[in-house]
Amino acid sequence: MKSNGTSRRSFLSAGLMLPVVGAGARLGFASPSVGLPHPDGEASNTLSGGPAKLQYRTLGKTGLKVTTLGFGCMITSDPSVIERALDAGINYFDTARNYQHGNNERMVGAALGTRRKDIVLSTKTEASDKKGMQEHLETSLRELKTDYVDIWYLHAKDKPEQVTSEMIEVQQQAKKEGKIRFAGVSTHGGQQQLLPWMAKSGVFDVVLTAYNFTMDPGMDQAIDAAANAGIGIVGMKVMAGGFKSIRPSDPLFAKMKRDGAMLAALKWVLKKPQIATTIPGMTDMDQLEENLRAMAEPFAHGDQKVLEAHLETIKPLYCRMCGQCDGTCQQGLPVADVLRILTYADGYRQFALGRERYQQLAPEHRAASCGDCDSCTVNCPYGVKVSERVARAQELFA
Ligand code: SF4
Ligand code: SF4
Repeated sequence: MKSNGTSRRSFLSAGLMLPVVGAGARLGFASPSVGLPHPDGEASNTLSGGPAKLQYRTLGKTGLKVTTLGFGCMITSDPSVIERALDAGINYFDTARNYQHGNNERMVGAALGTRRKDIVLSTKTEASDKKGMQEHLETSLRELKTDYVDIWYLHAKDKPEQVTSEMIEVQQQAKKEGKIRFAGVSTHGGQQQLLPWMAKSGVFDVVLTAYNFTMDPGMDQAIDAAANAGIGIVGMKVMAGGFKSIRPSDPLFAKMKRDGAMLAALKWVLKKPQIATTIPGMTDMDQLEENLRAMAEPFAHGDQKVLEAHLETIKPLYCRMCGQCDGTCQQGLPVADVLRILTYADGYRQFALGRERYQQLAPEHRAASCGDCDSCTVNCPYGVKVSERVARAQELFA
């Protein structure tokens, strides 16, 4: 990865030098009713190298107008990238209480500064009881230097039974108290069950869901069910694991490097009008610059070709968390979770995050070893080499 300085120089030399003061204010999104002056559609930010198109959509029944490119802050440690995204006009930022051991919220709060009320801000809690959730929310507000968050997600729920009535009550109470504006759920897998359930429940405003070009049509139906119920849809995992950033010395590098695959993946997600915004992770100016293009360029035939080739490359590696494994792990491992955690290291090059999440697995799962099995009892119909990948996670993190 390039240094920040190098990346920034590249950003500027590409002709996308951004104004120092917040473009957001000039673009009119400067009130707690963020974005409301904008119709769905496009606007242009004034950049020295030419206009950068900003595309807006309405986030379901929240009425919030969000830029279709949002900012997932989970892996960002450089606040200047967030500041430049603000300058560029991005108006949705997402973090979570547990990212970077709580340090991510602090960094995001500092980067947003006085511009916090110009944007839509979301965070999440993994706590599962009232006391824990309330403590998390108070800490989040303090760290983010704000007296409310726009969206508060119940973090990483993949089945309806993981969302308890106690959690819903705490969310609704926080809403009444003005500490959150909207209640959401984030989900990595199981959407085809979870999203229709959320649609029927009537208590959720937003869902943050994995969605990318690897997924089958059932996923679109689940999203449509939620959107038809007025739930705002935010897309994550839009790059299907990244994988472009594997190090050049790795033998897989030549196979994996597909110029434009990440941009094509983002444009593919934005083809779906129900997806109001997306939150790709960004760590440097080059990624920010590339992702901004997704709001200006339509998905083209060439993008489809790139994605088809990319899918072939990542097939043995990327678990889409569809829950359709053929067979179960004889040692009881939550295979999809382990594969998702491995993607943090192999796809996004975030080893520390992967190891942190691996350490949160149950002790018996951390102690399991694929080497103890004569043969693997889990097959992936999509071609993921399950035992190889799980063994790699054990080698890297255990
Ligand atoms: S391993 Fe394959 S079948 Fe199992 S959850 Fe992942 S993508 Fe789906
Ligand atoms: S090889 Fe690994 S993933 Fe497969 S059944 Fe054994 S422990 Fe589970």
